Amino acid sequence: MLEIIRIPVLSDNYVWLVHEPDSKETMVVDPAVAEPVLAEAEKRGWKITQIWNTHWHPDHTGGNAAIKEATGCHITGPEAEQARIPTLNTMVKEGDQVRLGDVVADVMDVPAHTAGHIAFHVADEDVVFVGDTLFAMGCGRLFEGTAAQMFDNMQKLSKLPGETKVYCAHEYTQANGEYALVAEPENQALKERMEAVLAARAKGEATVPTTIALEAATNPFMRASSADQLAERRTAKDNF
Ligand code: ZN
Ligand code: FE
Repeated sequence: MLEIIRIPVLSDNYVWLVHEPDSKETMVVDPAVAEPVLAEAEKRGWKITQIWNTHWHPDHTGGNAAIKEATGCHITGPEAEQARIPTLNTMVKEGDQVRLGDVVADVMDVPAHTAGHIAFHVADEDVVFVGDTLFAMGCGRLFEGTAAQMFDNMQKLSKLPGETKVYCAHEYTQANGEYALVAEPENQALKERMEAVLAARAKGEATVPTTIALEAATNPFMRASSADQLAERRTAKDNF
């Protein structure tokens, strides 16, 4: 069983520190910064051996160099973005597998937020690390891709088992939910979820990971019936 620790950094990023107890390997998903990540690993007596990057944005790779310098870890990230992530050791794409000890992740191509964005799906653990592609009740902005690509990503992720835990990289849930209620005002599951989210945020609690089932019930981007509807909703959310 993987141990997955949430490290809140910057204004709203989550870095995931992932420990595999049999091999004692420890991996970091999308380190925005280095210091809090190194400190958390140190506190737990874990040695960071790997970093997995989902995309090149600085709030996902900014800690790469310093963590590699401090630990000698191995960095895996999107082949299509290798020019923008100079610290990479291994470049991967859809169909490739990445290992943490004996735990295997399948790489998924999920372009749109960035052109080479990938996700890491650990099927045996029902876990997916999605970076900035899927958020609780939201999806990533379309910086380098199209609504049609994001629609395909949502369809692909929605086919994972419902119990799959979704580890996204930002605490955007409340703002996403406020827009989601406008997109789907009659969605009862969404209304109930938003009440729980508001209560959690009022206490300063995190609202991720989420699950594929919960997103399928409440996420207006995963629930969009066409690329056109996703495009309309994305534009509306951008201007919300
Ligand atoms: Zn990003
Ligand atoms: Fe980000």
